[in-house]
Amino acid sequence: MTATNPLPIFDGHNDTLLSLHFAERGGGRTFFERSDQGHIDLPRAREGGLGGGFCAVFAPSEKTEPVPADPDKAAQQALAAFGDERTMPPTPDLASAQRTAIAMAADLFRIEAQSAGQVKVVRTADELARCLEDGTFAAILHFEGAEAIDPELDALEVFYRAGLRSLGPVWSRPNAFAHGVPFKFPHSPDTGPGLTDAGKELVRACNRLGVMIDLSHLNERGFWDVAELSDAPLVATHSNVHALSPVTRNLTDEQLDAVKQSDGMVGLNFAVGFLREDGKNDADTPIATMIRHVDYLVEHLGIDRVGFGSDFDGATVPREIGDAAGLPRLVAALRERGYDDAALKKLAHENWVRVLRKTWRA
Ligand SMILES: [Zn+2]
Repeated sequence: MTATNPLPIFDGHNDTLLSLHFAERGGGRTFFERSDQGHIDLPRAREGGLGGGFCAVFAPSEKTEPVPADPDKAAQQALAAFGDERTMPPTPDLASAQRTAIAMAADLFRIEAQSAGQVKVVRTADELARCLEDGTFAAILHFEGAEAIDPELDALEVFYRAGLRSLGPVWSRPNAFAHGVPFKFPHSPDTGPGLTDAGKELVRACNRLGVMIDLSHLNERGFWDVAELSDAPLVATHSNVHALSPVTRNLTDEQLDAVKQSDGMVGLNFAVGFLREDGKNDADTPIATMIRHVDYLVEHLGIDRVGFGSDFDGATVPREIGDAAGLPRLVAALRERGYDDAALKKLAHENWVRVLRKTWRA
């Protein structure tokens, strides 16, 4: 074990498994060696005080256009394809999504096995708290979109036994359970119909098992459907403030009120396109823009209901942060802004542990 970090950061969302699994995304890097590709590997996590996070399993669409090397062109292409449900790349079918989900979950379990105790897939809040205390990197197995789960929910039972503890019913493209939000700017998150009947059954089953439901990619109607049905705190793992950056992926004041009432929380997304007033995918976005969202979230939700949800390895983040090793610069800026040690601890990990303990009931 490494020396204990006084302020470990636990993070609500990363796409590191995706980046490691698909060499065209991550350049064939591994979790254990320091790389200049992507945002998270164990050495950079150690350097930045990242104590763990929700590790997303995501089944990409099978037929996607090659991503242009020019980031501006790539952003334009993504907006053209993902800005409308009708032009989204197709949702993978159950068999294909299950193959990908099993392969990516296996990647995570292999990382755990090869880590000689440095990485643990956590299944209870006590395990998470212990890892944060002793410096073991804590990974939560999370599915971003339930495409790998059959409407009879048999796979949910099996994946739960394997370690699944968090699930977004849908990514931004529609599936059997719900409609996600296409990426539109400026636009309200009210983009289409809510949960299907199968989606409602999924929410009930997650409540019964103690699987956290992630609201981040749901459209507004889906959000309200979950709010009405779920008996767990409402959580958006990686979303920001719609009033400050009016993109469909961010939360309106009404949605924030509902999160507060349920004693849930929101993880600050570092994606520049969800932080900036102009919605541009521009890495030259100052940390001050992140702080504006933290201030707003804290003002509306209270200091007990805000955390981080970086979207590392899945988004363009501010150049000043760079990657997981740059997290201390965010902490320093928050300290400068007046957040004291007690507040920083809550933002860094205590709020996640509290909400997960309530949701998992273990
Ligand atoms: Zn996401």
